Amino acid sequence: MSLVVARTVQEVRTHLASARHDQRRIGLVPTMGALHAGHAGLIEQARSGADLVAVSIFVNPLQFGPGEDYLRYPRPLEKDLDVCRRMGADLVFAPEVAEMYAVEQRTFVEVTRLGDHLCGPFRPGHFRGVATVVAKLFNILQPDRAWFGEKDYQQLSIIRRMVQDLSLAVEIVPVPIYRDVDGLALSSRNAYLDQEDRAAAPTLFRALSSSRAVIEKGERRAAAVKEIAHRILAEQPRIRPEYFEIVDPVELQPVSDIHGEVRIAGAIWIGKTRLIDNVGASPR
Ligand code: AMP
Repeated sequence: MSLVVARTVQEVRTHLASARHDQRRIGLVPTMGALHAGHAGLIEQARSGADLVAVSIFVNPLQFGPGEDYLRYPRPLEKDLDVCRRMGADLVFAPEVAEMYAVEQRTFVEVTRLGDHLCGPFRPGHFRGVATVVAKLFNILQPDRAWFGEKDYQQLSIIRRMVQDLSLAVEIVPVPIYRDVDGLALSSRNAYLDQEDRAAAPTLFRALSSSRAVIEKGERRAAAVKEIAHRILAEQPRIRPEYFEIVDPVELQPVSDIHGEVRIAGAIWIGKTRLIDNVGASPR
């Protein structure tokens, strides 16, 4: 089957109407493009969990703050279509901004509390933009299932909660983080890194892994774990830590005493590039 590329909502709806009529289960992988092996992994998983796999490629202006990298975000559409073809996707929805936001958006989806920590305070309005565009995509494609990476753990948690709270008829499937051999989480933004920045970048994963190891060895005090992590990050002068936090895995509230499963998450700046990563951990 050849890949169908739809640029308008109408084209998507027409194409999916016949699939739905044939009772094919529709899977959606929402992306901002600049697809890498992590995205390919999501598409691959979707292949085995749906009859028709749609990939959306849309750099959503609503989720970028002033001064963020909206304009310089890479948009290699032809290469992305090749990845989708190679991974066996059936449909790509790649709308223009004017197609998604024909008039100024006055309606937003806001998931409270889950955005209060981690990336939330540093990217005001970001998760509102994410939840709103994902709700739109769900309404446009009406997928039975949608795949989201744990790479963006806070985003995944917020989307899950939105689906639960609004009784949306879609199943959210989480996908573990795809990493490079040195541990760096794959990200479209890794393309911004020069050679020296790239060499420094895995330090975040080292800090996360050490934190997990310390927790698994029995350390209960979050402050002690975070201190170890900050010491590791400080060894690398190219890195400016933004946050490093230990939170409960559902509502993403910081914990001081670790007595159950937690998520450890961090964000760092290397030059003008912001990178995020996270791992799960459970005490003994
Ligand atoms: P993005 O294009 O960055 O918006 O990402 C689209 C989807 O791919 C999101 O659900 C991300 O969490 C997921 N994703 C991106 N990078 C990775 C990765 N390294 N491992 C797993 N999922 C990823």
